[in-house]
Amino acid sequence: MQANSGTGARSPSYCRYTRPGNNPVDGTASLGLTGVEIDFGTGKPRTLWRYDGLKALEPLRANTIDVLLSSRDEPGATLFVQGRAFAASLREHAPHLSARATRWRRARLWLLLIASIVGIVTATMVTGWSPLRFYAGMLPESWRARLGDAARDSMTEGYSQCVDANGTAALARLSERLSKAAPEGVTFDIRVYDWPLMNAFAVPGAKIILTKGLLDKSDSPDEIAGVLAHEMGHAIAMDPEVGMLRSVGLAAGLEVMLGGTGGGLANIGVMLAQLGYSRSAEHEADVEALVLLKNAGISPKGLGSFFARVTKMESDDHSSGPSGWTWLQTHPPAKERAKLVRAQLDYPSTPALDFQSWNELKEICKTTAKSTATKHGDG
Ligand SMILES: [Zn+2]
Repeated sequence: MQANSGTGARSPSYCRYTRPGNNPVDGTASLGLTGVEIDFGTGKPRTLWRYDGLKALEPLRANTIDVLLSSRDEPGATLFVQGRAFAASLREHAPHLSARATRWRRARLWLLLIASIVGIVTATMVTGWSPLRFYAGMLPESWRARLGDAARDSMTEGYSQCVDANGTAALARLSERLSKAAPEGVTFDIRVYDWPLMNAFAVPGAKIILTKGLLDKSDSPDEIAGVLAHEMGHAIAMDPEVGMLRSVGLAAGLEVMLGGTGGGLANIGVMLAQLGYSRSAEHEADVEALVLLKNAGISPKGLGSFFARVTKMESDDHSSGPSGWTWLQTHPPAKERAKLVRAQLDYPSTPALDFQSWNELKEICKTTAKSTATKHGDG
């Protein structure tokens, strides 16, 4: 008979078969050609559990005296079989149940895990790819917008938004010209704040903040266009979102370590401003800026010249204080930038804004509105 043709365990072994919700049934188990055959006595239908679908609660060893099996053929059911001969013979029919196979499977899982970690670390180092960037891309638009509002509020706290009507219209013209050159689906929200420090930054949700200090220091609309295009580059790459996720991770980690109660998350905007971006993220933002400027028909020279001029100005005039410090400190050196800009082929361009619009933009802080952040401060 087929049922008894296997090696060893020729005589059926006592077994106890249990199905969920039923009383256990006693019977005999024998090793067939393709699986374990369970016999419940004369006249009752036999059950076959195929070898490749078997699982053992404990891996089968040379000294195993009984086995508890389950099967893909009957999920939930278990089969307890007594007998050293049965166990030894089952190990030959279903080698994947042996202790050695189980160890190898576990080792393989660890190896796979280690390989994945090494892979992620290597990919991060070699290409700048980061899992955080992947997660940032999955954040819903509304979350990114809310994160951006919170970050902008905390970063601009105490400074008023510049809202002069003509200046705002000029800013909208410049922003529209560059936005049209940007990938579809990105809507920028650009605001100027009455803030003497020369600074520009992007926060989540493609929101960009420019300061009066920056406008005061620039000589031409092309320079502002260059800075703006660079920040748009950060926004398109979702660098602020990535930075924020990293800060959240850091803050959460710190809080866990210090046993805090959520205070770290409140300072996220400040942390974001302090952390800055990686060197490669800065380079990418410059490259994206050059693409935007080219598509918009604006000369890339402003991107390079501005930094060179401001850097020189800062080093010549120490009395001016640290007004340009923040932006310059967190951004690629002017020399590197100038090189990148010089490498561009010439293309036809027109000034980023006409003379009148440029003057209107420079005067945007003539009228200011209380920033949303101070609203809940002093009422
Ligand atoms: Zn940057």
